[in-house]
Amino acid sequence: MNPQSDTNRLFLRHVAQTSPNPLGLEIVKAEGLYLYDRAGKAYIDLIGGIIVCNTGHRHPRVVQAIKDQADRYLHLLVYGELVQSPQVEYASLLAAHLPASLDSVYFTNSGTEATEGAMKLAKRVTGRPEIVAFNQSYHGSTQGALSVMGDEYWRNAFRPLLPGIRHVEYNSPAALHAITTQTACVIIETVQAERGVYLPDKNWLLQLRQHCNAVGALLVFDEIQAGFGRTGTLWGFQRYDTVPDILLLGKALGGGLPMGAFIAGHQTMQALTGDPVLGHITTFGGHPLCCAAGLASMQVLLESNWIADVARKEILFRSLLVHPAIRSVRSCGLLIAVEFDSFEQNKRIIDACITAGLLTDWYLFAPQCLRIAPPLSITDALIHQACSIILSAL
Ligand code: PMP
Repeated sequence: MNPQSDTNRLFLRHVAQTSPNPLGLEIVKAEGLYLYDRAGKAYIDLIGGIIVCNTGHRHPRVVQAIKDQADRYLHLLVYGELVQSPQVEYASLLAAHLPASLDSVYFTNSGTEATEGAMKLAKRVTGRPEIVAFNQSYHGSTQGALSVMGDEYWRNAFRPLLPGIRHVEYNSPAALHAITTQTACVIIETVQAERGVYLPDKNWLLQLRQHCNAVGALLVFDEIQAGFGRTGTLWGFQRYDTVPDILLLGKALGGGLPMGAFIAGHQTMQALTGDPVLGHITTFGGHPLCCAAGLASMQVLLESNWIADVARKEILFRSLLVHPAIRSVRSCGLLIAVEFDSFEQNKRIIDACITAGLLTDWYLFAPQCLRIAPPLSITDALIHQACSIILSAL
């Protein structure tokens, strides 16, 4: 960080900090695959705003949709009362590209609020007190989502949290025993991203689905990172031939504006309309500007060939990331974890990458793993350039 800069001084003084050593890079413009700092230096964004900018930064159609909507109306009233066409069009587009059983969309402002809404909905529908979640899972940072987060280091300082949460091992057959007729829902990521990219075993996930059906627990898939083509299909769950009762979306959902959503069947979602009425309230959820941006971004994604090209780009990354210091590379589409021996080594590499004009970071529960999750529009030339910067940093 430049200690001379007044903006940086004010950033540290008045913008609440959550890290003792923030990057402190002042970005003045972003476009496509690049961020630009005040000195005009370009950075390849290898993490896509942390899995938000799947269609790149400021895609012209997204920017145009935002401008058009700004000319019509911004906030009007609390969620769910007035008919707002950006909301209706976006919910309809999502439903058209989801299984028929997921046809009712509740828009929130963030991913963690989607988690909160899903947990409430599951409790309300089943009348049950318990929730099952997985070790090393991440579902958000508000208190309910924090309660299901699978890491004691982050949970512990904020106790008491929600009661009735049972944490079990991902991919473990024994985990199914924790799911009983007391379980309202099981919440699971279709890729455990922050653990450093771990996938569920297909048979195990099918068994989990069957077991939830048998005991009447709802199955919630968190695709806040895995959605919108990141894994090579529009939705991460498509590779598992199974469908959740509730789907969580966020991040790329808003095309660069803040959004989340929990999506369920119409009948299930009706539980929020009575006893009490207004079972989940948000002032800004489904904001028309965010819906217009998200709708345009999803349309761009569907009309492009980027999703179809994800698997090929994943292979290209993997073929280039070969070096004796790389312990392993785990990937699921363009969600890639490059593992080194330690956080210290990873941090040195990340810092050298940033100096060389490549922005990346590490995974929350896997600080020894470097994160690669670029916009899906990344070109082969930029993949070569990014990998050569990483290898030089080694
Ligand atoms: N679930 C997953 C899998 C996530 O990756 C995140 C964000 N990193 C969230 C939930 C929470 O989303 P938000 O930060 O928008 O609250």
